[in-house]
Amino acid sequence: MKKLLTILFIFFTMTLSANAETVIYNTATQKVHKPHCQHAKKCTVNCIKIEKNDAYKRGGKPCKVCGG
Ligand SMILES: [Zn+2]
Repeated sequence: MKKLLTILFIFFTMTLSANAETVIYNTATQKVHKPHCQHAKKCTVNCIKIEKNDAYKRGGKPCKVCGG
């Protein structure tokens, strides 16, 4: 039983950290970039740092270069 709880805990923690992934969201083009993406680095005016889930909830589309 203890083992099962440990597995569940690890799974839950991993799910949480995946949800909390931060991306760069371009509010003008609605493109979602990973923080290291060259386009994200060039984007300084319209881009905001938000959680990945939020970016897609706002109608974000994955960047063709970094995959969002
Ligand atoms: Zn990108």
